[in-house]
Amino acid sequence: MNLSLSEDQTILADEFRKFFASESAMERVRAAEEKMGGFDPELWRSLGEMGALAMRIPGEDGFGLFEAGLVAFEAGRQLASGPLVEAILAARLLAQLGGPEDLIALASTGEAVVTLALHEAAVGAQIVPGGAVADAILVLSGDEVRLVREIVGKAPDNLGGQPLAPIDLSDKGEILASDGDARAAFLAGLEEWKILTAAWMAGAGLRALELAGEYAKEREQFGRAIATFQAVAHPLADMAAEMTGADLAWRWAVAEVAQGGGKAAAAAPMAFWFAAQASSQAVYRAQHTFGGYGLALEYDIQLYVRRARAAAAILGDPRDQLITAGRRLWLDETAALPETGHPGIEFGYGEAAEAFAQETREFFQRELTDEYRANAHFSYDGHDWDLNRKMGEARLLFPSWPEEFGGRGLDDLATAAALQVWEDEGVTSHSQYVSNLVGHSLIHFGSDEVKRDIVPRLAKGEIISCLGFSEPHSGSDVFAAKTRARKDGDDWIIDGQKMWTSGANLAHHAFLLARTDPDAPKHKGMTVFLVPLDDPGVEIHPVHTFQDERTNATFYENVRVPDSYRIGPVNGGLQVMGFALMIEQGGGGFVGPHRHAVESAVEWAREASRSGRKAIENPRVLERIAAAATRNTVSYLLYWRALWLKTQGTDRAAGPMSKLYGSEALLKDAVDLFELAAPDTLLRGKHGARRLEHEMRHASVTTVYGGTSEVHRSQVAEAFFGLPKSR
Ligand SMILES: Cc1cc2nc3c(=O)[nH]c(=O)nc-3n(C[C@H](O)[C@H](O)[C@H](O)COP(=O)(O)OP(=O)(O)OC[C@H]3O[C@@H](n4cnc5c(N)ncnc54)[C@H](O)[C@@H]3O)c2cc1C
Repeated sequence: MNLSLSEDQTILADEFRKFFASESAMERVRAAEEKMGGFDPELWRSLGEMGALAMRIPGEDGFGLFEAGLVAFEAGRQLASGPLVEAILAARLLAQLGGPEDLIALASTGEAVVTLALHEAAVGAQIVPGGAVADAILVLSGDEVRLVREIVGKAPDNLGGQPLAPIDLSDKGEILASDGDARAAFLAGLEEWKILTAAWMAGAGLRALELAGEYAKEREQFGRAIATFQAVAHPLADMAAEMTGADLAWRWAVAEVAQGGGKAAAAAPMAFWFAAQASSQAVYRAQHTFGGYGLALEYDIQLYVRRARAAAAILGDPRDQLITAGRRLWLDETAALPETGHPGIEFGYGEAAEAFAQETREFFQRELTDEYRANAHFSYDGHDWDLNRKMGEARLLFPSWPEEFGGRGLDDLATAAALQVWEDEGVTSHSQYVSNLVGHSLIHFGSDEVKRDIVPRLAKGEIISCLGFSEPHSGSDVFAAKTRARKDGDDWIIDGQKMWTSGANLAHHAFLLARTDPDAPKHKGMTVFLVPLDDPGVEIHPVHTFQDERTNATFYENVRVPDSYRIGPVNGGLQVMGFALMIEQGGGGFVGPHRHAVESAVEWAREASRSGRKAIENPRVLERIAAAATRNTVSYLLYWRALWLKTQGTDRAAGPMSKLYGSEALLKDAVDLFELAAPDTLLRGKHGARRLEHEMRHASVTTVYGGTSEVHRSQVAEAFFGLPKSR
């Protein structure tokens, strides 16, 4: 995995950010809209000088699609006035199809505007981006690509104040090229257009959010900044996740096409739809944050609303892209795809992690019995001691622990990649997940005794851990815990009650947060202990949940714990919890169930009939499942981003954002797909519609445990926008 830009890409993006900030400042955007039909000729010539218009012309100096996306993103941030994406692609097509040299030269320098029609000539009048100022338009007509020069387009008043024009291109223009290759080149160009326009929308949506975040910090109502109201901050946090996802999605689409991945044919329509709906929601939310001023023409935010909505609508209903994506994903429809060049960035877990995941897969395929598979359960209820020990012996449990503690010395990516395999094979990972974060904390903060006696036994799979954070009266406010620990000679005595101590009925010890200084402020008087659960003072009572999961209420009375089982400094609970929660957060536990929900829906749709044909052939069904598949892809992207930034030591909002988006998207889709396949989903089972019944119930817990969505929204609002604390 590598999600960082190369040095050259960073320079390119920085240069264009500065360029658009000065050459497409909002006064210029407004002037172009008011006086020149939304086209800025001076900007256009400068874009020519910068080489932007010629950047996709194949040849030695040609840039890849990814670099063009970086430029489109920056253009979107500043709402650059002119059909930039179309012109970049028209210049490329002209060069690819042997167009007139003089026109290519003029198009490259910005002395002429050449654009392209997004629909085939036969549709009749169509809205052509840039049509009102174009010197030439490229249009597809069957196998012919035509060049239309006598243009009588005129910009009518339009939402985005752009130089678009309705033009009838049927039977117009000279034939530039005419064969299957020409058609394929044009169609591949349209796929590029979707990706570049997605990048443009990502830039516009993110910039609109920045403006809203700044305004929320300054604007006061009821005697305080509106940013302090969660009703303002939280929806912005959701939009930050959506727009970060949209920005990742176009980047992923380039990488997926470049490497011919399994979703390559569907990647452009997926990225386009995602960016269209995300930016449309984001600009609305940004505008709403400005209250009445958001509607006043003097405020720039309304420009973003109009331009972003116009970009999303220029191709037609953005949801049509989902149907296209669905046909390409599940009905074997093929697509002409562009030559992208090497994007540099790479998604996925990376080679070392994938190799470890493969070893895990082979182990499961060898070791999992039919009986295990028949009784598999997603929660602690599926824990199998025999399997756990065998995995421990094979050092497959905790790859990111140092070798001396029974790990492999790999990074978190190996754990993450392997957990996807656990998920695929139906092996519960609850105990691995919890024991992994406890073990890491013990290695970091534990005494020599704990490192000698506990960590190796965890690594060998002989024992597992559970978490004792939540209490009956403190969940989100975890540091309000009342469970007490008082010093007694060299030991500590624990008294209190914990709630939701999942796995306590199987675990050797609880990683437990207790109050050690009742007089200190809430966050400063807490300490973490390892509390053995076989102590006679411990009682464990089962609590059964809606999603078929056993968890526990645990009671502690006079439980004696040696000081060597204290983890971290006395009253240093905040530090230890911060470390442990860094490992817990990230949302990786939800991408797998989300993917299974999509796969189950596809399985159902291939078998069930709707309106006299297979459900999978029904566009409405394809649209719904493709939307879920796209959101699932975005969940993966945000998750990979969180993992990547963690390896770079720069994880700020990334973990909470991934958890927030991944769980909320899972919940949304699990319910939607449950309804799509109803009433078959009323019955319980392991496949198709029946599995969706389970996914729907399971999804409900994912927005609660590991920190609720509200807590994560607050964290994202603070880290992403710099908004004040609202908890
Ligand atoms: C199945 C399951 C397993 C679990 N396993 C474990 C475990 O192993 N160990 C463990 O320690 N815990 C565990 N938990 C507990 C889990 O972490 C908590 O349920 C969670 O943190 C929320 O706490 P709460 O349930 O007390 O809800 P509360 O904190 O009371 O929240 C109730 C509602 O108020 C909202 N809210 C609370 N504070 C704020 C705020 N400041 N701003 C806005 N909204 C707010 C919440 O988002 C939520 O919607 C588990 C929970 C479940 C359901």
